[in-house]
Amino acid sequence: MAGKKRAGWKKFEACGSCGYKGGFHLALQRRAGGQVSVKLKCPSCAKAFDLGWKIRL
Ligand SMILES: [Zn+2]
Repeated sequence: MAGKKRAGWKKFEACGSCGYKGGFHLALQRRAGGQVSVKLKCPSCAKAFDLGWKIRL
C-alpha cells in the first residue's frame, strides 16, 4: 500500500512554501469510517501538505 506513494517523498525534501529542509511533522486527521488521512506539516511555516496518504487504525 505505501510503496506506490514512495515517489512523493522526493518532492518533500524541502518545503515548497518556505524552503525549510529540516524535516516535516506528521499531522493525522480522522475521517469517517475509521480512516485517518496523513498530512505533512512544515514546522517552520506550518503549511500542511496533503499527499493523499490514508491509513486505517
Ligand atoms: Zn514551510
